[in-house]
Amino acid sequence: MSFSVHGLAVSRGIAIGRAVIVASSRIDVAHYFVQTEQVEGEIERLRHARNEVATEILKVQQSLHDLGPSDAHPELTALLDVHLMLLQDEQLTNGVKHWIVERHYNAEWALTTQLEVIARQFDEMEDPYLRERKADLEQVVERILRVMRGVTSPVGVGQPRPGQDSAVDVPLVLIAHDLSPADMLQFKQSVFTGFVTDVGGKTSHTAIVARSMDIPAVVGARSASQLIEQDDWVIIDGDAGVVVIDPSPILLAEYGFKQRQGEVERERLSRLKNTPAVTLDGQRIELLANIEQPEDAVGALKAGAVGVGLFRSEFLFMGRNGKLPDEEEQYQAYKRAVEGMQGLPVTIRTVDVGADKPLDRVAQRAGEDHLNPALGLRAIRWSLADPAMFLAQLRAILRAAAHGPVHLLIPMLAHASEIRQTLALVHRAREQLEAAGVRQGVVKLGAMIEVPAAALTIPLFLKHFDFLSIGTNDLIQYTLAIDRADEAVSHLYDPVHPAVLHLLANTITQCHEQGKGVSVCGEMAGDVAMTRLLLGLGLRSFSMHPSQILAVKQQILRCDTTRLQTWAQTVLAAEDPAALMTD
Ligand code: PEP
Ligand code: MG
Repeated sequence: MSFSVHGLAVSRGIAIGRAVIVASSRIDVAHYFVQTEQVEGEIERLRHARNEVATEILKVQQSLHDLGPSDAHPELTALLDVHLMLLQDEQLTNGVKHWIVERHYNAEWALTTQLEVIARQFDEMEDPYLRERKADLEQVVERILRVMRGVTSPVGVGQPRPGQDSAVDVPLVLIAHDLSPADMLQFKQSVFTGFVTDVGGKTSHTAIVARSMDIPAVVGARSASQLIEQDDWVIIDGDAGVVVIDPSPILLAEYGFKQRQGEVERERLSRLKNTPAVTLDGQRIELLANIEQPEDAVGALKAGAVGVGLFRSEFLFMGRNGKLPDEEEQYQAYKRAVEGMQGLPVTIRTVDVGADKPLDRVAQRAGEDHLNPALGLRAIRWSLADPAMFLAQLRAILRAAAHGPVHLLIPMLAHASEIRQTLALVHRAREQLEAAGVRQGVVKLGAMIEVPAAALTIPLFLKHFDFLSIGTNDLIQYTLAIDRADEAVSHLYDPVHPAVLHLLANTITQCHEQGKGVSVCGEMAGDVAMTRLLLGLGLRSFSMHPSQILAVKQQILRCDTTRLQTWAQTVLAAEDPAALMTD
């Protein structure tokens, strides 16, 4: 019977496909399809790993036995027996085979998929002893995965795609309790056409990456990952924030129609690619792209962006088990982005880890889980705490600037002392390159305004920086004390709260008065519902995901900024600005 769950609409469009439930702890397991002729090889790889694990367990059992009866560990011996039994369990082995043969999943994916199926059955058991066997099964699967990690598949990630083989010609959607931004990057290469998570807010970084992938997504869908079962048919409505499970034929037809309408709309918008973004009263508006990886430059150009307004460099630093990219690796990545943009400017933001962008899956430092990472050692604070690491990044950016126009952007500054330290380090990085005779380029220096303290001290920033970029995602979070990643308070996350609008308007006006560049690079810039207001407040430079550029351009082409200016002042003075947004 069909039913639906509701969450937050974070990335538009409709996806229809079979559910793949992935446990958050196993998201880093490779997910790809194998070709028909590779199916046997995958089954063999799994059989080999299983046999290896069985041999390991038997060896441990033998050594326990050799210790003699006085040192015997009956509990451990019994546990190992259970593990041996689980290794041979028919439901596990047959199930895994099913996913490989019928669905062409690679061995690791098939194994973790079947683990999820069985784990749910354990969860429903009344008997606490049997329920606890789930942990044993997870350990056994973990051991098999560990052996398989040493024996990689001959097939590369993401090579065969659905549609190339009739056996895998079924669209798949990902369902998970949670996904970190680093997991999302991995999924950029993957086979999934949409995703749903139980947790997450509208401007959480997971949602932001989903938008950059331009696939329908719903986050904050509470218990979706519990209610949806492996292989269920699912509709993800990324416009309404609704997930329909096991849809009826009528619903399928209805959503199939909406999906096609969306495609037609995109096709229509694509014709605007080469149209200059100029308002009815002749104001030229700069539309820039937000990117996470150098390769995203291709999409930015394709969407008609006139530059990159925000390259979130932290994505180069994530999911690397603590091993950070060195200067050379970063330089190569920034250079690729600069060259990819073919002479258009690239704004590289220095690393912004922390808050909901942990370096690795283990989000917090041991023993510090009572702290709030959004208020902790994040962004520039993290960089200034490790000057050697920061200098390496600054040198890499300065070197990349020798290959094309680069702007250097610093996140989350709030204090004059932070500004001084940052500028001193930029100066030192320049000197170091000069002393070593390494080629570097000239960069424009910019600061992000994303903390209320910064928005209230704009003259200080204008004294030291060439341009400002308003990070509304954090500016809203910190002004309203709303965790942007927490779906429980997402209804209070209000981009048009009068306090937020005053900080925005004030920043834009002061930049104009001083003749300095100002843009907005938070999600507000790519939200078509906000375009008129931002234009009315005087904004002329917007930075957003490439997938949103054409829709925002369409709005711009219909606007007259002289009229919007007066209306925006009314909105700014209103007690409830949201009520005026549709005027
Ligand atoms: C912002 O805060 O608006 C911003 C653009 O930075 P991020 O979303 O990466 O924190
Ligand atoms: Mg930010």
